[in-house]
Amino acid sequence: AYWPASGSLVVKNLSARYSQTGPKVLHDISFEIKPGERVGIVGRTGSGKSSLTLALLRCIFTEGSVFYDGLKTSDLNLDALRSKVTIIPQIPELLSGSLRHNLDPFDQYDDATLNDALRAAGLFALQADMDEGNITLDTGIASGGGNLSVGQRQILALARAIVRGSKLLILDEATSAIDHKTDTAIQMSLRHELGRDTTVITIAHRLHTIMDADKIMVLDAGRIAEFDSPANL
Ligand code: ATP
Ligand code: MG
Repeated sequence: AYWPASGSLVVKNLSARYSQTGPKVLHDISFEIKPGERVGIVGRTGSGKSSLTLALLRCIFTEGSVFYDGLKTSDLNLDALRSKVTIIPQIPELLSGSLRHNLDPFDQYDDATLNDALRAAGLFALQADMDEGNITLDTGIASGGGNLSVGQRQILALARAIVRGSKLLILDEATSAIDHKTDTAIQMSLRHELGRDTTVITIAHRLHTIMDADKIMVLDAGRIAEFDSPANL
């Protein structure tokens, strides 16, 4: 059977640190997210939001266990895990080269698939803000993505996630001011374009982003202060 079939996530007693002897930045966190749920994570700066995303992919030192679609991630090969979960970081890195190369580095998909993903991710917002006329798959990306704004890079990263068919998508919303149009494009695609079987975790800096989330997690100093539906908070 194809794994992952769903984006369910079960986290048990997860602690994390950035170095083997460093201080814990997450303390014994446990929670569950059902397939297809939309979860918003909020908390003040330094509360551990980005660290949680890194811990889920085992990019930092962790204790405890994480089950993704029923499988314990410590039993999985790291490449397999990271190819099946997409994290869109606060400032996505892009590869220099074409847009196509960024969406499909291993040349696995046809142009129609890539164009559909760009459209779904909100290419039109991106298009309007670039001076170069029409964006195509051959449009060049400067090293690191320097010719694109942070919001535009997030849109491309989102398109990449759509192409990969990730069942678990984690968006670490950019803190820097994203213009309203780009922000709207990102929220629209998260709401409407991703299948309802895709679990989406959004680390939010603006309240309106998570107003319609199924659940909201409030992190405080590396611990979960609240985890409930917006109506119950
Ligand atoms: P923000 O809203 O500013 O993005 P955040 O909630 O994402 O904040 P984290 O980046 O997860 O917060 O930081 C949690 C803790 O981990 C903080 O104490 C921070 O200093 C520490 N930390 C973050 N990155 C590193 C790092 N690369 N090395 C060591 N400690 C780090
Ligand atoms: Mg952060």
